[in-house]
Parts: sequence; C-alpha cells; structure tokens
Amino acid sequence: MITPVMISTSQKLFDDARRVIPGGVNSPVRAFRSVGGAPLFIHSAKGAYVYDEDGNRYLDFVGSWGPMILGHADDEVLAEVTTALNRGCSFGAPTRAETELARIIVSLIPGVDMIRMVNSGTEATMSAVRLARAVTGRDKFLKFNGCYHGHADCFLIAAGSGTLDIGQPDSPGVPVSVAADTIVARFNDIQSVKEVFAEYGETIAAVIVEPVGGNAGCIPPTDTFLADLRLVCDESGSLLIFDEVMTGFRVARAGAIERYGVQPDLVTFGKIIGGGFPVGAYAGSRFLMEHIAPAGAVYQAGTLSGNPVAVAAGIATLKRLDDELYARLEKLGGIIETRISEAVNRFRIPVCIQRVGSMFSLFFTEGPVMRVEDTADLDVARFKQFFHAMLDDGYYLAPSPYECSFLGASHTEEQINAFCDRTVFHLQRLYA
Ligand code: PLP
Repeated sequence: MITPVMISTSQKLFDDARRVIPGGVNSPVRAFRSVGGAPLFIHSAKGAYVYDEDGNRYLDFVGSWGPMILGHADDEVLAEVTTALNRGCSFGAPTRAETELARIIVSLIPGVDMIRMVNSGTEATMSAVRLARAVTGRDKFLKFNGCYHGHADCFLIAAGSGTLDIGQPDSPGVPVSVAADTIVARFNDIQSVKEVFAEYGETIAAVIVEPVGGNAGCIPPTDTFLADLRLVCDESGSLLIFDEVMTGFRVARAGAIERYGVQPDLVTFGKIIGGGFPVGAYAGSRFLMEHIAPAGAVYQAGTLSGNPVAVAAGIATLKRLDDELYARLEKLGGIIETRISEAVNRFRIPVCIQRVGSMFSLFFTEGPVMRVEDTADLDVARFKQFFHAMLDDGYYLAPSPYECSFLGASHTEEQINAFCDRTVFHLQRLYA
C-alpha cells in the first residue's frame, strides 16, 4: 500500500501562488530559495509569534524584516490604526497627522529639520540620491558592495571587474548607461573610498551607506569608517547619505546617527516609522529639503504618500520607543551574542555571531565578517540544515544566510535563552 505523502497547507498555497505570482512571492527572499522548501504562508501574528496556515506557531526573528519592533499586532498600534481607518483610507490631501509624524521624527533625529514621506525604502533612497544630484550638480554616486538600498535601477549595480570600477548592471533590465554613474567601493575600507575619490571626486554627488551593514548579514562599521566617510565627503563637496531604512529607530532611538555620533547630510527611513505599513521617508536640513517640489524644483510625488493609516501606525510606534525599550533590546541582544559566541569558542565551531543592538546574524564562517567579500566561503549547506532544524523547533529566522534577524519588545529573556539553547544544540550537532 502506498502511504500518502502529507503536503502542508503552506506548500499547497505556494503551488497556487506560483501559478499567478512570479516565483510565488511578492519579494524574492520570501521564497525560501536560499534554504529550500516551501515558505511558510503566514496566517496571523501576535506579539513575538507568527502563526502559519498549518496552525504552527513560531517565535519570530524576522519581524517583517525589521518594522515590528513592538512585536506583532500591538494593541495600541492597532487601536490608533483602527481609529484612522474609520475616518477613511486615503484622501490625497494633507492631514494633521502627517505634520505630527514629521515633528516627532524631526525632534528625535539630530541634523534633520524637514522630512518627506514616501511609500517604501526604495523610494526614499532613490529620491535622496536625486536630491543630492540636484543640489551638487553632479551625476555619479558611490555605494558599497553588499549594501542594499532598494531596487531602483541606480542601486542594482554590482562592482566592476576592478574593485573600484564604475559598476555593472546587477539585473537584466538595468541600463549600462545607468550603471555608469554608480561607483561601488568596499564597506569598512576607507582606502577604497579614497581611491574612488582620487579618480572621480569632483563628479560624485553623494556617498550612500547602510551605517550598519544589514543586507549581507549584520556587519558593524569599524570605529572610524563612518567618521572617515564624513571627512572624505566634506573634502570633496559630496553629500553623505545614511540609509537608515533598517537601522533607523532600531540600533538606537536616533538610529546610527546616535549610536556612532556621525552626522550625514541626508538620511532615509522606512520599516519602523510605518509600524508595519508601507512607508519610507527622506530627511535632512531645511536648506537641502527645500529643494524638493513644491518648495523647490526637484520633483518627487506620491498618490499614497503620507497615507493616514500608515502615518497613524508610525506615530503610535514611535511614541513607544523609550530608553527602557532600547535597554531591554540591548540586553536581549547581548544574551544572544554572549551565549552563542561563548559556545562557538568553547566547542571550536567555525561560526560567528555579529550583532548591533537588536539586529544580529549568525554567519556560517569563522569571521569576523567586515564586508560582504568575507562571506565568500559561508557554509551554505550547513546553514540550510540549521535553519530547518530551528524551524522544526518553532523558531522563524531570516530564511537566508546573508540576512539579519531582528528582536522586538515582545521577546522575553526566557524565550531568548531557550532560543540560545536550541541554537547551540544544533550547532554542536551539525559540526560534531
Ligand atoms: N534600504 C535598506 C537599508 C533596506 O534594508 C531596504 C529593504 O530592506 C531598502 C532600502 C528598501 O526598502 P523597501 O523594501 O521598503 O523598498
């Protein structure tokens, strides 16, 4: 007799989705390509847990890739969202709440006088680069290999064959002519930046950087990297853009600007400032921001920008981010870092844990990982086994060896210690 193979609901839903959605997902990393198997189809989430369509519960370390710093379906956020929703979904006209959100962000972020809301991190970074180009009258900009700034053409650029070259399109459809204005340097390598500036300095409008690398795993800046970038930009009249879509309100209340004490000219936000709704924003001094239409000539617009429901979620979230919350996240992150690094040292497991505040990654290589180039020999096969073992134990980690996982206010010390126990158990088993 043939025993029927049980197919999970997630698998069935994934099969259905693939018929009508490219790859079955609306953003590539969700497809579990890096870890294999069908992605979990999520039914609902509350606090620190997500629940899939098969009725399984997982302790969530993805947090919608960063926004859910308060945990899922937070009661206060839901209440504010519901109130806003009952007044209407979108008006395409200004609302009082947009000014309130702008005031909150301006009051919290040093060096920021004005902010423009958009609908995604991609729009924020794309618009910030446009503004930098307009203000400086220069076309080129510099980004770092391994940093991700969304999917606008000008960012989907890989390093050229020489490391300091003008970039190459990193996706079909990105014109070579666009790539010609993007220069790619090495993260945490100021020498590579200086070499680029020596050659192209007078044509570079801006340097854009994730102040903590978060899209090739968690990669902290060296003690001097961000300050050195500031100096290079000042010397050449280029603007420094911190892409804080991931780190904003995450690595500290005022993000990397507070944590590292370096002031960029422009800063981009997303994720947390929308409390889980589609939001982005870019911000800077009054002088720079007043170049944006309709105050100035630099065009940028959006039908749903400043959407009242998203803005309500953002305000409700930002109001809750106090010193106590960051101290708690730091403590929880510290437990993960300390316990896992002690175990990998004691048992000589060639894996390293890297963390900044409530962002962390377990790299399946000895490390330290200073830049994406250091991940070339990641043990992807073991990561996949680890990921699925943790999933089977009820822990939902970022489904890629090159992504960060995130902590939120609703994680408890008990949960984190249990997570560390299982992590160490599986690492020991996989490297026995
Ligand atoms: N910038 C950074 C640092 C990001 O991490 C992301 C997304 O993960 C983006 C920009 C793009 O944001 P979005 O996905 O909202 O377009």
